[in-house]
Amino acid sequence: MSLKAVLFDAGNTLLFLDYGRLAPAVGEATGVALTAERLRAVAGEAARSLERRDGTDRERASRYLEAIFRLAGVPAAQGETVRDTLLALHREKHLWGAMDPRTPAALARLREAGYRLGVISNSDGRVVEGLGAVGLVGWFELVIDSADVGVEKPDPRIFGIALERLGLAAHEALYVGDIYEVDVIGARAAGLDVILLDPLGQHAGRDVTVAATVAEVADRLLGAPAA
Ligand SMILES: [Mg+2]
Repeated sequence: MSLKAVLFDAGNTLLFLDYGRLAPAVGEATGVALTAERLRAVAGEAARSLERRDGTDRERASRYLEAIFRLAGVPAAQGETVRDTLLALHREKHLWGAMDPRTPAALARLREAGYRLGVISNSDGRVVEGLGAVGLVGWFELVIDSADVGVEKPDPRIFGIALERLGLAAHEALYVGDIYEVDVIGARAAGLDVILLDPLGQHAGRDVTVAATVAEVADRLLGAPAA
């Protein structure tokens, strides 16, 4: 097989916002009744604010968080309270502290099939900590955090750094991420093939292979597991 490595985005691919922790904390700070289910329900709509190409990825991430709470009913005037609360929570423990429970088995299948696994994340220097907190970090031989290397997706150089460290050519690696403008555009510019994670079916009909979950990515590459 010419494909030797599968490289993953982190946020909304391997790591998800821990809504069960965010809802009560922001709810208490703003006086707006929030539930994890409510936040989860508006997250897809909020994700559309990440597709805008302007700004750095860090700005995009704050727009995403702001949009979730605004859509969940927190008045825009309380934006600063939301931001301060989230910052305090993130200082204490990584905000992206949840994962899809099917992910470890999918990563295990990929590793058993001989694929090398890595992560390329636009983050704040804490992606290893975030992956460690949910018990995923051990699956990856390489984790690249944009804050450590000084370039961020969609800049193709961050993919080049990963390939160089793995000693692989672009056609030997596949990238999996959830934001078209960042993950698909960036990985393609570096010559990698891409699968776009699209759990809500928002990208059907676009010129890219989509999968709903990391488990579905493994099924695509390896075939569905025996029942
Ligand atoms: Mg992402």
